[in-house]
Amino acid sequence: MIIPNNIQNIVILTGAGISAESGIKTFRDQNGLWENHDIMEVASLDGFKKNPNLVFDFYNARRSQLQSENVAPNEAHKALATLESKFKGTVTIITQNVDDLHERAGSHNVIHMHGELLKMHCLKSLKVYSIKGKLTQSTICSCCRQAGNLRPHIVWFGEVPYQIDKIDEVLKSCDLFISIGTSGEVYPAAAFVSEAKNHGAITIEQNITPTKQSRQFDSQLTGPSTTEVPRLVKMILNP
Ligand SMILES: [Zn+2]
Repeated sequence: MIIPNNIQNIVILTGAGISAESGIKTFRDQNGLWENHDIMEVASLDGFKKNPNLVFDFYNARRSQLQSENVAPNEAHKALATLESKFKGTVTIITQNVDDLHERAGSHNVIHMHGELLKMHCLKSLKVYSIKGKLTQSTICSCCRQAGNLRPHIVWFGEVPYQIDKIDEVLKSCDLFISIGTSGEVYPAAAFVSEAKNHGAITIEQNITPTKQSRQFDSQLTGPSTTEVPRLVKMILNP
């Protein structure tokens, strides 16, 4: 693989695969069920309206797991943070992950298109707040000083991903697009590779196995992201 030395703007899309070796369990590991509840009950606005306590419990459990001792950024997250700090141009990460492992590894320029576990927002003002502990129906919102107005800052099924305009903008000016640990089956993220290609970007896919999208990319790096991503970052920094 040859990476030209005139690259200015790198955009990296990351998915569940990059966090797989960080100790995080996703609901997909349990056959799409969480304590026998269908994922639609805990990850949709309808589900939230029907049973907010169940939805709060689901995200409280995931938030607490994310902050547990055995979850930490891995070599792939760390390599991307090194890339951001050492690369002469810009590096933007667009992540589908709701964890904070890119930030913990040291990345600053991260767009969380599917939201963040450690954030909540007010349904009335749409203001976003940090949350480390439990969010419940009785949590008081600091803007409206009322309980019952806060929800997890997570994009649920059927909702529009966050920061789509910003994403569009970075894809338009990107000259190297890298997809890491994502199956390419969830839209709109699955369309980013063709969008980047339309603007002339070179495209690289890194995944544990080939995906349905692999043929759309100029190059593929197949294998665990903890070994392949550091290798790729070295190639970019020392072309
Ligand atoms: Zn509020």
